[in-house]
Amino acid sequence: MDAAEFRRRGKEMVDFVADYLENIEHRRVYPDVEPGYLRSMIPSEAPLEPESYEDVLKDVDRVIMPGITHWQSPHFHAYFPSASSYPALLADMLCGGLGCIGFTWAASPACTELETVMLDWLGQMLQLPEDFLAGTKGQGGGVIQGTASEATLMALLAARCKAVKCVHESDPQRSEADIISKLIAYTSEEAHSSVERAGLIGGVGIRMVATDEHFSVRAETLEKMVAEDKAAGFIPFFFCATLGTTPSCAFDKITELGPLCNAENIWMHIDAAYAGSSFICPEFRPLLDGVEFADSFNFNPHKWLLVNFDCSAMWVKKRTDLIGAFKLDPVYLKYDNQESGLVTDYRHWGIPLGRRFRSLKLWFVFRMYGQSGLQAYIRKHVELAKVFETMVKKDKRFEICAEVVLGLVCFRLKGSDELNEALLKEITHLGRIHLVPCKLRGRFVLRFAVCGRTTELRHVQEAWTHITELSSELLLKHHS
Ligand code: PLP
Repeated sequence: MDAAEFRRRGKEMVDFVADYLENIEHRRVYPDVEPGYLRSMIPSEAPLEPESYEDVLKDVDRVIMPGITHWQSPHFHAYFPSASSYPALLADMLCGGLGCIGFTWAASPACTELETVMLDWLGQMLQLPEDFLAGTKGQGGGVIQGTASEATLMALLAARCKAVKCVHESDPQRSEADIISKLIAYTSEEAHSSVERAGLIGGVGIRMVATDEHFSVRAETLEKMVAEDKAAGFIPFFFCATLGTTPSCAFDKITELGPLCNAENIWMHIDAAYAGSSFICPEFRPLLDGVEFADSFNFNPHKWLLVNFDCSAMWVKKRTDLIGAFKLDPVYLKYDNQESGLVTDYRHWGIPLGRRFRSLKLWFVFRMYGQSGLQAYIRKHVELAKVFETMVKKDKRFEICAEVVLGLVCFRLKGSDELNEALLKEITHLGRIHLVPCKLRGRFVLRFAVCGRTTELRHVQEAWTHITELSSELLLKHHS
């Protein structure tokens, strides 16, 4: 394909994507395919000779589309949202076109510098304490990671490094292996599995902290566990708080947990993967109170801030904790100005060396929506969730299972888990809307998340009508 054909095909692809997104609501949101469906539809080996673009595109319709779960559909209410907007899509196209890799400042100065400034802009939008911002007198700064899982892992690894150093300084005889074997991390029993996984990857013990009646971790509970563990010779070093848990969007009490962690020399990381976007609205910002005690904070603009995947924003209060933990300097990555103190090398801030120019997506979205546009978007989703909650509450056959704070409603039919499992199975089987479940206090619960950029009141009402009709049929069968 030469530039002339790329121009033509590129314009066609933009039309293809715009048509797809404009008409997405008419598609079945959840695909009707069996595992392994794809292999038999394409050859068993890559083609020896080039094929035509037309043939490739035809196969997108034939092979790919039947197996797509339409995450951008207004009928998609599963998991949490995966953000998408036209400005971000265009920025992504530009990112692909530039094709630069920004691992050091020199590898692509604009790539590095825009990232630093965008993370400051975003940090200001969230009213993060100045300590976390790069362009201030503080020692902090922000970085774009691929996912919240990576951010949690990086925070845990940096905390591990800091703890080992600290213990070693007071007890130089102690081996690193011995110290690591005694390190203990903590997180909520409601935390995302990626936190436990970070513990497994980081090779440290991790304990789940019980939550209160609101599914929140309280300082009192953590304090007891820390005391027990210290008495048993362990070294508490890391606590991952969650603001907006995956099952029910619950909030750990960081205003009380933060001071405890600070007093115990425990690194507090905050995972606000989904809820973080809402903190740009003054009315939701109090949910972030206590962030001043944290060592690191992360949320996913790729979930709820109209920035297409991947873009996970992470800030640290003391950037040397992160950068210093895993610093290597091979000759081929050296350049003039490296030690000037004026440059950032993001390769030290994460696991991969190579990194895409993801800050372009933030820049385009911030400028084309403005803070007011982004706030309006968040507020609309929260309002739609409230509408859904009100409809659930009006139907005495159902119950709400957790407080609705943002765009997630946890609900169930009053009755057995089996009944609710049967309801969800039927919803999934019909594929008109898509929901996933969770367990709350051992009970099977349905989650209704407002996800789509184009989700309107009518979609939420239609979803509820669909759910209630299926429920009526199910209850009739159940009682007959
Ligand atoms: N943390 C929380 C609270 C989440 O809800 C999720 C995903 O929904 C994650 C972490 C994982 O996010 P990622 O896919 O960015 O790793």
